Formats: sequence, structure tokens, C-alpha cells
Amino acid sequence: MMKRLDLTAVSRCLLAAALATALATTATPAFAATRAEQAAMVRERALATSSACALLSDLTTTVGQRLAGTEAEARGRDWAVKAMKAAGLVNIKVEPFPIPVWQRGAESAEIIGTGQKLAIAALGSSGATPAAGITAPVVYFADYAALEAAAPGSLAGRIAFIDHHMMRAQDGSSYGTNGAVRRAGPALAQAKGAVAVLIRSLGTDYHRNPHTGSTSTPAGVTPIASAALALPDAELLARRLAAGPVSVKLVSTPVFDANGQSANVSGEIPGVGAPAEVIVIGGHIDSWDIGQGVIDDGAGMAITLAAAKVIKDAGLQPRRTIRVVFFGSEEIGIYGGRAYGAAHASENIVLAAESDFGADRVYRVSSKVAETGKPLIAEINAALAPLGVAPTRDNGAGGGADVAPLGALGSGILELEQDGSRYFDLHHTPDDTLDKVDRAQLDQNVAAWATAVWLAASDDRPLRTK
Ligand SMILES: [Zn+2]
Repeated sequence: MMKRLDLTAVSRCLLAAALATALATTATPAFAATRAEQAAMVRERALATSSACALLSDLTTTVGQRLAGTEAEARGRDWAVKAMKAAGLVNIKVEPFPIPVWQRGAESAEIIGTGQKLAIAALGSSGATPAAGITAPVVYFADYAALEAAAPGSLAGRIAFIDHHMMRAQDGSSYGTNGAVRRAGPALAQAKGAVAVLIRSLGTDYHRNPHTGSTSTPAGVTPIASAALALPDAELLARRLAAGPVSVKLVSTPVFDANGQSANVSGEIPGVGAPAEVIVIGGHIDSWDIGQGVIDDGAGMAITLAAAKVIKDAGLQPRRTIRVVFFGSEEIGIYGGRAYGAAHASENIVLAAESDFGADRVYRVSSKVAETGKPLIAEINAALAPLGVAPTRDNGAGGGADVAPLGALGSGILELEQDGSRYFDLHHTPDDTLDKVDRAQLDQNVAAWATAVWLAASDDRPLRTK
């Protein structure tokens, strides 16, 4: 069910955060002898201090959207360095890596004859039409499998329209099963002769908001123009195509710069017993350009930094090093996560976890750790139960895009799975804005992260899978 949205949401967030700052600076750490008692203490402090809202508001108000490789992403990095310092983290590093930069140009689409305008957003890394656009007949495909079945060359001179059947789901699984439509559909249609591609947005809302996102093209191939249609527009086009032939005029003029740069930013609470054993937590700095980078993924940055700050402010000293990593360029090709994995392959990163599924509550734990780490996961399950979090299903978690390379190198993986029921109403749209964030759910995230991270950082049982 959709939270009722109102204009006072942001104010309530800021007032609560100011109050929280006062609480945080006057409270003295409660005496907590055991790890379980310490975990309960950080959980309660996280709920009482409510600091993520202020971080998220500051980032997305003073920096705004943070498209990968642009000066806006660079301002996001500057903000990250400042915020980490303010939170008391040390050993702050900015690690650059090269990326291709893609930026949106002019974009419009209309049905020839009736002049009906279609709400579109070009897909990240898609190609361009001429400035005057292209006009071509449209061919309908019910889903990716239908496009796969099309004969070679059968789309010559045509615009392919790829529909699908994405559904609302708490675990977001329908994004995975329909994702090929966006990620691989345009390149496949191009291989069969298409001159441009339109897809039904990977989304669940019925606003006229198209959902952008990356598409990929084989190396050496210059991509054709491809764009996502808002759901009402996709359904209009499908109805028109069911009734007879339709041509569309499409304009999309993005620009590429092959020689751009992004960077990862990190800061630490050094461990005092085993500092070389590192726990990586974080989110990604970059966002899509058409929203404000709030739920994707300013929220993940705010949640994980606030969780580290709760542990620090509680006066607790972790045995293992807690390292907060904010990844660059996730959206445009997971460059940040890959660069981080490659640069830190020789380090003993015992556990890696990212927050990148919005700002709504954590509802389930999942993990992938060594057999010796399973008792720690059981402790985490027990400590998160008071927050309404369900225990681990199995030990097969992937961890998400940015930490998957660390997982592949053997780092243990922890996932604090968030409720994705309304995530795909907002994901990659102009509606990714601060007013959509529910402060209580954001705070529940911080409490879950601080608790789980404290238990892992104060523990000594091996977690790595190789
Ligand atoms: Zn994201």
C-alpha cells in the first residue's frame, strides 16, 4: 500500500534529525557487557538518534542527482568525504577509475497521424537518432522471448516495441525476471535489423513517468536509440498496434564521452583487535539524472554511514575494521564495484554488504558465509527480530551489484533485504525524491545495519567462503 504523501514529510524529517543530534551529543553510552547487550544498545540508539534523514536530505538537497562521470557525481564524492569526516571516520580515500560517460540529450516520441505524445526516457548507454529524429513503423513483441523468436533481418527499417509482464513483489524478483527487456532487448532487436527500440518501463506505477536504466551493446557495435515508455503510454501503444499498423517519430540525442572518470570513496572505524579483518558496508554515489538520487541510492549511503556513526558514537570499539564504501558509477555498468573488487582483491575483507534497494524497511536477512560463520548469522537473526525482520532463508545470498565482485573473491556476504513493494513505482524515475521517504522505515534500516555490523565487527569467527 502506498504511503500517503504530503508536503510536511520533509519538515518532520528535519525536525526529528535536529532533536536526534541533541540526544546523540548528551547521551552517555549505557553499560553493556555482552555482545548481545551491545547489539541491543546500538539498535535502540539508532532508533532514538534518527540521523539518516538529515544525511539523506543534505545530500539530495545540496548535491541533487549524481549521474555517473559528471561534475554532479564529483560533487557527490566531495559531499561523501565531508560526511565521512563529520561522522568521525578515518583513513578516508578517494580511488578513481575510468568510465565511459553517457548524457541524455533531447528526447520525444509521437504517434504519426494522431500526434499523440508518448512519455519516454532514453536508456543509459543507448545510441542517438539524427537531431530531426527518425520515423518508422513499429513492430510489437509481447516479451523478450517473443523478440528472440523473431527471424534474423525481420526488423529491418522498423522500431521494435518490447512489452513485458513485470509485477509488484516484496523481494523485487519481477525486476530480475523481466530485466532482459531493458538490458539486452535493444541490442537483440538491433541485431535483427531494428532502427530504434521502445520498451515498456521496468516499473509498477501508472504515472506518466518513464523508468530509465542501463542497456548494453556488444563491444564494437554502435548502439541504436532506445527508450522506455511510461506504463500508460506503453499500453496506449500496445492498444494502437493491436488495432492496426502504427508509425512513431522518435527523437533521442544522448552524447557519449569514452574517456570519463568516476571514483569510490571510503572511510573507516579501525578495528582494535584484528584491524586487517575488514567489513565493507555501503551504497552507491551515482544516480540517474531524471530523479534526485534519493531512494537510489542516497538512502543506501545515508543508512550505512548513519549505522557506522551509531556504533562510533556509542563509544564501542570494534575488533574488526568497519569500512564504509560509497561506490561510483553503479548505474552505468557497475564500474565502481568492479574497480573496488580488483583494487582490494588481496585484502582480508571478511564480510561485504550493500544497501541499494530504497528506503523502506528491512524485512529479511540473507547471507553467504563459511560454515564457521553461521552462528554469527543466527545471532544477527535474533538481534533483528525485535525490528520485525525475518531470519535467513538459506546461505546463498548474492549481495547486490557492487559487492558481488568481493563475494566472488571469497568475502562473506550479508544482505539486509528491504521491502521492495513500492520500490519500482519510483525506481529510475523523476519521482525519486525525498518526500517519498518514510522516516520510521529509514530509521529501522539504520538500526538493523548498526546491530548486524556491530555483531560482525566484534566477532572472531571466520566468514570468508574461500
Ligand atoms: Zn542503485
